[in-house]
Amino acid sequence: MKHELPKLPYELDALAPVISRETLEFHYGKHHQTYVNKLNDLIPDTPFADSSLEEIVMKSDGGIFNNAAQIWNHTFYFETFSPSGRREPQGALADAIKSSFGSFDAFKEEFTKAATTLFGSGWAWLSMKDDGSLVITQESNAGNPMRSGLTPLLTCDVWEHAYYIDYRNVRPDYIKRFWEILNWEVIESRYK
Ligand code: MN
Repeated sequence: MKHELPKLPYELDALAPVISRETLEFHYGKHHQTYVNKLNDLIPDTPFADSSLEEIVMKSDGGIFNNAAQIWNHTFYFETFSPSGRREPQGALADAIKSSFGSFDAFKEEFTKAATTLFGSGWAWLSMKDDGSLVITQESNAGNPMRSGLTPLLTCDVWEHAYYIDYRNVRPDYIKRFWEILNWEVIESRYK
């Protein structure tokens, strides 16, 4: 099965100045595309030749895992953004954030800390446990919390390619502005 680069739900300049057109041209147009191309090169004549992307993420390792999980993670990350959209959670997810972290501000602080302190390349995640409670985790490289039985809700890519064009080496400035382009309606739709 041939994997495809999913279309973005907005124009390349729609997230500027938080994430510029140039960053999306590289991050989506080149990095994300390259993971898709590499996975398609790697899977023929393997047990994953006809597997869904999620199945590959759950069961593979090595280069096949790295490329499949990077496709999954980037699609999930890019889908969370919108030039319009509601910037704070409501309803059941807002309640779960309050009961797991104390308040939305306390959650943002803890998530920011996880994204900022992650050493090297990786992803900060907000996920749901089976009981509906929430947890923040750090994953190195292509790591994905589904492998630990969690349901991902939100992620922040802290690989340098996510922010180096717009923020150079200053990862904290990127994470600070990340909140301005989140569409919480999308994140809420993942909480079920
Ligand atoms: Mn990335």
